[in-house]
Amino acid sequence: MSLSIPKWLADAGVTKAIPSTRYTKVGGRRIRLIVLHFAVTPETASAAEGVAKYFQSGVKASSHFTTDNDSTVFQVPLEDVAWAAPGANHDGIQIEQAGTTQTREQWLDPYSLAMLDRTARLVVALAQHEGIPMVHLTDAQLAAGKAGIVDHWAVNRVYKRSDHTDCGAQFPWDHFMARVAYFAGTNHQEDDMPITDKVVPSAMLGKNEPAVAIPRALDLIMRWSLEARDNAIQARKIAEAQALKGGALTEDEVKAAVREALSEAAQIEVVVRPQEVTP
Ligand SMILES: [Zn+2]
Repeated sequence: MSLSIPKWLADAGVTKAIPSTRYTKVGGRRIRLIVLHFAVTPETASAAEGVAKYFQSGVKASSHFTTDNDSTVFQVPLEDVAWAAPGANHDGIQIEQAGTTQTREQWLDPYSLAMLDRTARLVVALAQHEGIPMVHLTDAQLAAGKAGIVDHWAVNRVYKRSDHTDCGAQFPWDHFMARVAYFAGTNHQEDDMPITDKVVPSAMLGKNEPAVAIPRALDLIMRWSLEARDNAIQARKIAEAQALKGGALTEDEVKAAVREALSEAAQIEVVVRPQEVTP
């Protein structure tokens, strides 16, 4: 069968369609949950394609999507039920990810950071399209029938239908949900603007709406702080990898990186001076 990628999914980074063969065709359903998994694979650039092809092998399993560090693969139409998380199949969207049980550090290595960004972009698009809140549900919320984002492990803790524990205790939910917030709040136009205009667009500083402008500015600053933290994690990983290979950064390179980070932070500080947000 063929499976075409709608524009809104292409815009969310879906790169290819490799249809699964075993799933339940229902042709329309109410979707409540986005369920994250890992597929127990090596971390390679073709891992997602490999998982998708495995789901064409006749195995009694499937998922709507699989992500790896450079691909987001679409496998089962959203209106149909993939077989991945008994208890949350009929009302869930299933996303497999490359990799296996990892420590938090390993979940934050360059490969996984790239993959988690792909998953986060996809989750934002799915949540917006299906009207699912972008919240990581507690077990109690999941059991109470709330809508949101969970992993396969939570589904099994609540519904006790299998013993899978992916994504596991070390999955960096804080990082992941920060990336979801980042992709949910970013548009490309905003990215092209100078940082001061991004934080407090001048229109917001008019006489009329300070009560709106201030929380909005703080919200944006929080988001960029998270982004800066993620960039720092990424930079540290790269530096560590280079050091391991014997190619440590020069002192000048370190100073330049620190200077750049500080200057971004300084620009943010400038725009939250009280006199600038007082009407
Ligand atoms: Zn799973």
